[in-house]
Amino acid sequence: MPERVFNFNPGPATLPLEVLKEAAAGAVNFRNLGMSIMEMSHRDKKFEELMHEAMNDILGVMELSSEEYAVLFLGGGASLQFCMVPYNFLSEDRTADYVHTGAWSKNAIKEARLFGKVNIAASSEDRKFSFIPTSFDLTPGAAYVHVTSNNTIYGTRMTKFPDTGGVPLVCDMSSDFLSRRLDYSKFSLIYAGAQKNIGPAGVTAVVVRKAWIESAKDGIPTMLSYKTHLSKDSLFNTPPVFPIFVVGLVVKWLKAQGGLEAVEKVNEAKAKAVYDAIDGSGGFYTGTVEKDSRSIMNVTFRLKTEELEAKFIAEAKEKELVGLKGHRDVGGCRASLYNAMPLAGAVKLAEFMEAFRRAN
Ligand SMILES: *Cc1c(COP(=O)(O)O)cnc(C)c1O
Repeated sequence: MPERVFNFNPGPATLPLEVLKEAAAGAVNFRNLGMSIMEMSHRDKKFEELMHEAMNDILGVMELSSEEYAVLFLGGGASLQFCMVPYNFLSEDRTADYVHTGAWSKNAIKEARLFGKVNIAASSEDRKFSFIPTSFDLTPGAAYVHVTSNNTIYGTRMTKFPDTGGVPLVCDMSSDFLSRRLDYSKFSLIYAGAQKNIGPAGVTAVVVRKAWIESAKDGIPTMLSYKTHLSKDSLFNTPPVFPIFVVGLVVKWLKAQGGLEAVEKVNEAKAKAVYDAIDGSGGFYTGTVEKDSRSIMNVTFRLKTEELEAKFIAEAKEKELVGLKGHRDVGGCRASLYNAMPLAGAVKLAEFMEAFRRAN
């Protein structure tokens, strides 16, 4: 078995090797205290410090002020956020606008309909989610507008966000959180399951505009209320201690790389390497989405037949390029190029794609 492969899995996904080593050390003996981070109280000052550092580092790289914003670390995955957002902010007499760009927004919309009216402000469903809409039919006075910044399964990303005219903008950023520079201050709530780009499964980062949380509904179950977690600083109950520890290490790693500007550059270069291999293949590989909607995190493509795709995936694996199978709902191939995937991995994949094309 190789010590390390290039891992293109969509999530849980590749993490920086340095971080894994530090996490492994802390899993046994955290900061030389003679116990694992997993064995410490979540009320221990050392854990609280570590968690606050992770929160502040996230706000720092996003260039958000801690006066206006807070980071919550919650359980339940991004999928619980599909329910928590409308539970806290939508009611039967109000409408929320949803931009429908794939399988994850579909799940989000389903949950919102349990709480109030949903207006589909734009949808790309009629063209198999192969593009990101750029015009939006927004409801004046909507409770909020919900978008998905990166569609992990279809391989599209949003670059132009709706201008909501003061209506709170909510974004599922699970698969491109902390991967690029954006004006994050236009969002009132951002959520991301950690296991795509910032850590292990088990924790969800939720970045909230504090003033909006103050306006959330009362009288909802304690654990599902953002107010609970904001007022208790994510320590109302035992938070996912170990995943938070690893997220903290990943964000420190990200800062050491040079922050969002630096990782965005590398992310663009990785995506370009693989898209160039697709576009330069004379139709041997075909992209599945419109070029101006292409994701730089999840590159999706097809080969001529499913047999050839299976052969491609199997031979890539022999070359230690793993995790290239597309999502079971859409088939094909997908290379996930999250922050921790080095440029060398994308280049090696592009070279393999070229060699496989010549041989087939
Ligand atoms: C993976 C993913 C989810 C679901 O995340 P869980 O943490 O498994 O609930 C939601 N949205 C997007 C965009 C995703 O990529």
